[in-house]
Amino acid sequence: MPAHAFRRTKIIFTLGPATESEEMLEKLIRAGADIVRLNMAHASHDSTRLVIRRIRAVSKRADRDVAIMMDIKGPEIRTGDLTVPLELKAGEIFDFTVKPGMAAGEGGSGEEIRSVDVNYQNLVNDIKVGDTVLVDNGLLRLEVLTKDEARIRCRVLIPGELRSRRHINLPGVKVNLPAFTEKDRGDATVGLEEGIDFLALSFVREAKDVELLRIFLGEKKSKVRIVAKIEDQSAIANLGEIIEACDGLMVARGDLGIECPFEELPVIQRRAVRACLAQGRPVIVATHMLESMISQPVPTRAEITDVANAVYEQADCVMLSGETTIGRYPLECVRMLDTIARRIELEETPDKSFPAVFTGERMKVLHAAVVLANELPRSRLLTFTRHGFMAQGLALLRPARSPILAFTPSPEVFRQLRLLRAVEPFLMTLAADPDDTIESAIGLLRREDRIAVGDKIVIATDILAHDRLVDSVQLRTVR
Ligand code: PEP
Repeated sequence: MPAHAFRRTKIIFTLGPATESEEMLEKLIRAGADIVRLNMAHASHDSTRLVIRRIRAVSKRADRDVAIMMDIKGPEIRTGDLTVPLELKAGEIFDFTVKPGMAAGEGGSGEEIRSVDVNYQNLVNDIKVGDTVLVDNGLLRLEVLTKDEARIRCRVLIPGELRSRRHINLPGVKVNLPAFTEKDRGDATVGLEEGIDFLALSFVREAKDVELLRIFLGEKKSKVRIVAKIEDQSAIANLGEIIEACDGLMVARGDLGIECPFEELPVIQRRAVRACLAQGRPVIVATHMLESMISQPVPTRAEITDVANAVYEQADCVMLSGETTIGRYPLECVRMLDTIARRIELEETPDKSFPAVFTGERMKVLHAAVVLANELPRSRLLTFTRHGFMAQGLALLRPARSPILAFTPSPEVFRQLRLLRAVEPFLMTLAADPDDTIESAIGLLRREDRIAVGDKIVIATDILAHDRLVDSVQLRTVR
């Protein structure tokens, strides 16, 4: 296997009607998808259980165990049900009502004012006159004119169709909804019972939000990893503490692009990716990567460049949403990400300026391993990892070319390693003697034609030195 045949950037796709059949799932998994994301905004508990079991069964058949990320919705505000969609006109006065089933309001000259319910009663207290209300990914824009305890009266600035249960964004408004809701708790419980690998928490605004989920996972004795989705201005203000608190970050560009001035988005993405590298957390760049492929078989030139940028920035993962939930070309999208990432990875030179926090003896040993691998052509990094930390440390150091072949005895850790850039996980029982473990791993790689005679293997592992384990770096040549 030449080093470049392995794709370092990982691919996440969101499951939806376009991809939930066994046949399509199998195609996407075989095409190289690493993680399947379940969006709990649109899923019942029964269908979630069913689909998780299906993913596991298909993974087994394809002999490629992918990870599952459940995305819980956090403090999301939505409009209520409408019997028919409403066509809102520019300049129209329109009410958001916080008490369900209220009678229609009246304008100054007695005309009826149309309205829709919202699912959050306290909205009238959080919002101010002059604030902006964006509905359905910003397709509709309204300005708040007045408010009382039951309704928020707005003027429509950007008109359009309002349909049932649309997502509401309030740029710059501090919403006092709980970070981890009752619905999230119910969804997450189902996920844990079915053995998911990651929980992605939406609209994380501060580290405390992540800690609430951490407490819940502690109560459930779960080792599921937390991905914090940053989606609004509060998250950007508290970026450092959020990265510190989570196990991985998602730059959720869909909502970020609505909640923040659009020209800030590339700046935020770059800053967030670099901060994750500096603070030692994996990072996902999400949303609209190949948006035009929802309806077209090829992406725009700008989309190709956007994906390439995420790879150049050295994000761990790129993510598909609408492209694979409702798109016509989900398989082509996964293949497209795969092709672009492989090509760009040949160009990349590791950015030595990451101010990573490489304190601690273990990180220094891992750094030595990466320096060695960077110097040797056709080298592989090999590590053994019970909890995933060794592999995560190596991934953080962003080796220039060598894949990180990570052997773990734990199926859960194996799947969680799918999140990490350049890490290829292998499931293997570790022998009592570390040297036997190394021999077995090299044997397995030889049998699978992953390494050839003459290849250099840089091994980062702990070895037994009398009665204690010490971290070590070894260089071996395949014979
Ligand atoms: C996003 O907003 O970019 C995102 C990934 O979140 P969701 O799809 O849940 O809106």
